[in-house]
Amino acid sequence: MAMTKEERTAKLRELEQKIASKKGIGALYGLVKGMSVTMRTMLKPAITTQYPHVKPDLPERTRGVIALKEENCTVCMLCSRECPDWCIYIDSHKDVMPPKTPGARARTRNVLDRFAIDYALCMYCGICVDVCPFDALFWSPHFEYSTDDLSTLTHEMDTLAKWMDFVPPPPPLEDGAEDPSQEGAAADSATPAAGTTEAAETQAPPAREERHDEEPPQIDQEAYDAAIAQGKPDREARALAKKAWILKRRKAQS
Ligand code: SF4
Ligand code: SF4
Repeated sequence: MAMTKEERTAKLRELEQKIASKKGIGALYGLVKGMSVTMRTMLKPAITTQYPHVKPDLPERTRGVIALKEENCTVCMLCSRECPDWCIYIDSHKDVMPPKTPGARARTRNVLDRFAIDYALCMYCGICVDVCPFDALFWSPHFEYSTDDLSTLTHEMDTLAKWMDFVPPPPPLEDGAEDPSQEGAAADSATPAAGTTEAAETQAPPAREERHDEEPPQIDQEAYDAAIAQGKPDREARALAKKAWILKRRKAQS
């Protein structure tokens, strides 16, 4: 009966072990075997890419680095809290805004002072991008920020914002899909498109000013169960459930 591939390999291994254990012949056999591998490899064409002289042809949505769309950030701190490496640093202060109606309580708004990511610690898990409820974090395909000094790998928000230039536009919606810009219309009004500053000024004040994210986000059980059912790890499921809770609160406030 013909031997299977596994049986042939096992038999060959056994034979090799027998030869290798023989005094004198063993070392010679190892040398010959090693040289045969070298010869085989030498005859194959090289597949090394000569980076940085030749740029790699990467997919459009390569996950190179995380970019920040500063105007979308409401300083809700969800990304920073959920980051497994604690490598997102956020500083902010509160501005007191006049009340909407006379006699009402003055409003406050969070103003982002610092947003930095330490890429020496980041493990590129993408949780921060997934959980940001306000679409302020994006994967950017830019990857050329290596350095030989770890201390320079903490990038501040001006650099993170520049990396937004590399982020490709979102793909068109599938037929029948719900338009997310309708759902988050309030958030989008905080992000006037280039050249529309005047229009934005005449519209209602940016939604960011009206958000009161004082209360820490809670777990939305339905979203948590759905994420677990999709096989997401507990940490990510909890983070997505908090995101869902924030979005529900925002919808209720609008
Ligand atoms: S990718 Fe992961 S480790 Fe890196 S900043 Fe985001 S949450 Fe933290
Ligand atoms: S989760 Fe998004 S909106 Fe909240 S602090 Fe992070 S980047 Fe800003």
